[in-house]
Amino acid sequence: MTRDVLSIENLHVSYRGVKAVNNLSFEVPAGQMTCIIGPNGSGKSTTLKATLGLVEASHGKVRFFDQHVDAMRKRIGYVPQRSTTDWDFPINVFDTVLLGTYPNLKLFQRPGQLEREIARRALMRVHMEEFADRQISDLSGGQQQRVFIARALAQRADILMLDEPLMGIDATSEANIIEVLTELCDSGCTVVMVHHDLSTIEQYFDHMIMVNQHLIAQGPVSETLTATNLTATFGANLLGLPE
Ligand code: ADP
Ligand code: MG
Repeated sequence: MTRDVLSIENLHVSYRGVKAVNNLSFEVPAGQMTCIIGPNGSGKSTTLKATLGLVEASHGKVRFFDQHVDAMRKRIGYVPQRSTTDWDFPINVFDTVLLGTYPNLKLFQRPGQLEREIARRALMRVHMEEFADRQISDLSGGQQQRVFIARALAQRADILMLDEPLMGIDATSEANIIEVLTELCDSGCTVVMVHHDLSTIEQYFDHMIMVNQHLIAQGPVSETLTATNLTATFGANLLGLPE
């Protein structure tokens, strides 16, 4: 049986009394590419944030490697949903990636030669080394996203959680990101990604979790990506249902 890297049981999250996540339970298997899909506003981002303790759940149990998130934080990389306004402050590409090494530093330790080398290699994997000195705010959306992936790589986490990293980016960046994440999975890392494009699920992912505030379906993509589950997740008026 595959080991679960993340398990969520009966998660409930509300914002000022309005439910965003309602009794959600699912498991993420080790070493695979897993996507979370669901309509806009169905609680996907909230779920990622709640698992990481960034928003408070009113109820629920979240375990990473069968432990509380606080004990596992260094081992979890997180790439939040991108919002252009977040990146107005001045920071260059290399320093952004270097931030990824901080969780593994000791208290008061500064990043040194080793950390700079880790950051340089992470930038090379996303083909952004030539942009090392550029300001983040000067990059295109796809380039920014590759830099944020590099920052997560520099953390050398065992599980990466990414919130719609492919949304609104160019095809080259998308191909690069998928290639890097697939290689990571092949080397034993676990990837969980909120994904918006139904047409690429089969190509990119092994496992899928379908949500609409609560769990609709979960399992291997080959068994789970069905018209019945898509209708249950998105509603009957979804366009482009597979046969
Ligand atoms: P998704 O990522 O699936 O689009 P979200 O988790 O962002 O969905 O949002 C789920 C619901 O919670 C939506 O109705 C959204 O408007 C609401 N919501 C999200 N963040 C906040 C917030 N900070 N304050 C109040 N409501 C929020
Ligand atoms: Mg979202």
